Amino acid sequence: RANKSTHGIFLPHLVASLEQVEQTYIMVKPDGVQRGLVGEIISRFERKGFKLTGLKLFQCHKELAEEHYKDLKTKSFYPTLIDYITSGPVVCMVWEGVGVVASARKLIGSTNPLQAEPGTIRGDLAVQTGRNVVHGSDSPENGKRETGRFLLLKEKKGWDLSVESGTGDLSSLAALWFKEGELCEWTPAQAPWLME
Ligand code: ADP
Repeated sequence: RANKSTHGIFLPHLVASLEQVEQTYIMVKPDGVQRGLVGEIISRFERKGFKLTGLKLFQCHKELAEEHYKDLKTKSFYPTLIDYITSGPVVCMVWEGVGVVASARKLIGSTNPLQAEPGTIRGDLAVQTGRNVVHGSDSPENGKRETGRFLLLKEKKGWDLSVESGTGDLSSLAALWFKEGELCEWTPAQAPWLME
C-alpha cells in the first residue's frame, strides 16, 4: 500500500498493511533497572530492527501492577510479583512492527531464565523466574491493551478501530501503561534498509 514518509517521499515498499503492524509492550522490570541492564535490553530490540514508539521511566503503583497481572491473581506468587514490580522504577516501552509480539517473546526467552535459550535476554541475563528482568506482551490484543495504542488510533480520523483490532472495538478498554500523547509516530531513517 502506497504511503508518504514524513519527508513527503513516496515509499510504497515501507508500508505493511495496517492490520499487519503490531505493537508490543516491553518493560524492563525493577531488577533490570537496578542492575543497569536498561541499555542492553533496549539495544536488543533496536538492533533487531523494530520501531520504538514509546519510552519512559516510571514508578509503577500497586493498582496498575494488579491490573496488569490480573490473570495471575490466583497464583501463589501473585503477592510477591506485585511487590517486585512496584519495588522500584521500571522502563516502559512500546515497540512496533510486523510480527513484533511473537518475535519479542522469542528475544526475551522463557519465563524461567534457567530454561531460556542462550542468546535470549532472560537466557543471557537472569537466573530466577521471580527476577526475570523483562516483560513482553503475550498477544497482539494484550499488546494494544498494555501500550494504549488504540488511543493514538482514536486521534486519527479514518482509522477504523474494529479493523485494526481484528475482533472489535477497543475503545472501551483502559490503556494500561501509556496515556494519550505519550506515543510517537515516526519513520525511522533505516526503514528502507529493513523492509523491501
Ligand atoms: P511471562 O512474563 O513470561 O509472560 P507469565 O505471564 O506466566 O510469564 O508470568 C508473569 C510474570 O510473573 C513472570 O514474568 C514472572 O515475573 C512472574 N512469575 C511467573 N511464574 C512465577 C513463579 N513460579 N514464581 C515467581 N514469579 C513468577
